[in-house]
Amino acid sequence: MRIDRKRLERSIEELGRIGATERGGLSRLALTDDDRRARDLMVRWMRDAGLRVGVDRMGNIFGERPGTGGPPVMIGSHIDSVPTGGRYDGQLGVLCGLETIRALDDAGVRTRHPVMLVIFTNEEGARFQPAMLASGVMAGKIALEDAYNARDRDGRRLVDELERIGYLGPEPCVPRPMRAYLELHIEQGPVLEEAGLAVGVVEGIVAISWSRLTIHGVQDHAGPTPMRVRHDALVAAAEVVTAVRRIATTIGGDLVTTVGHLAVQPDIVNAIPGSVALSIDMRDPRSETLDRAREMVDAAVAAACAREGVRYELEHYWRVPYTPFAPEVVDAVERAAGAAGAGYRRMISGAGHDAQYMAAIAPAGMIFVPSRGGRSHCEEEFTAMDDIEQGATTLLLAALDLAGRA
Ligand SMILES: [Zn+2]
Repeated sequence: MRIDRKRLERSIEELGRIGATERGGLSRLALTDDDRRARDLMVRWMRDAGLRVGVDRMGNIFGERPGTGGPPVMIGSHIDSVPTGGRYDGQLGVLCGLETIRALDDAGVRTRHPVMLVIFTNEEGARFQPAMLASGVMAGKIALEDAYNARDRDGRRLVDELERIGYLGPEPCVPRPMRAYLELHIEQGPVLEEAGLAVGVVEGIVAISWSRLTIHGVQDHAGPTPMRVRHDALVAAAEVVTAVRRIATTIGGDLVTTVGHLAVQPDIVNAIPGSVALSIDMRDPRSETLDRAREMVDAAVAAACAREGVRYELEHYWRVPYTPFAPEVVDAVERAAGAAGAGYRRMISGAGHDAQYMAAIAPAGMIFVPSRGGRSHCEEEFTAMDDIEQGATTLLLAALDLAGRA
């Protein structure tokens, strides 16, 4: 059993042209005209491969290759991107899934369980928040009505955009019976490249904690106000930013901490900042580590704000627990990587994926392939064709293992 590397490479090229940026990246936000063109191309390829194509009420696309009985092995990912993103994030999982089906056809292999390709709507959350919106609805974790009412920056509703591009489908967006869910994805980190390995056998997805902090200082003139009477919200925020970094280096291990958003009021050159809002993102495979990190954030914020004499509100408002993948699927991926002759290791995903929601309703697993320089969500995103070939072969063999020969 083998995949057709040349055919896969051509598909990557062709799909990558829709929404391509001048510098070799991709800007294909969910439910835009480019998303519609990419979906139309995928649907055409799926029909050419003889798949029975259906679309659900969230615009998720399914293409089934029949088996002799039982629920399908679902393979797929997403084809939306972030603005000036890359050509591999999401796309690769969908195209390796399609190549898996084409390779099964080439070999004339019939499977017991059907093999079903899935393309999820709005995984990135770049246009409509939150991320992984449509797999979240399918898993019953997000209400359909809330998803429909999500609005983009221009106030356009998701449901109206689904309808506009012709992908407001008739099938209910609910948990489906599945033999397994399997997603190939780029690693988006440096681990595989540093180790010189082609395949990551993903055991689970990190626990994530999000917090928001608002600091209220005293806005005043940058000239006549002496330093001794100032209550500068940004000075306190700066201490928090460095403290959040220090929490990760103090606790160590796999913990990563980020302040990614900072909004300063009034944000002008000649006023002492009156208020600052900032975000704190912390991730670790172990929930207990996040508990400890949150306590350290509480203490660091209290100390920084006391020193500057400012008030604050700190809210730990969102948390996802560690998502373990199903051991039988992880083992199938490991066997497949071995059979494909790929160098591999077991690892944890530091980013969220549709597989996270699928894990709530099906035995799920993921396959990672390397990201050059560990980079993603940028135009430089790149995975070498040799690695893609090994990853795709791993997906093919794992899917076949789980589906079973008829
Ligand atoms: Zn992705």
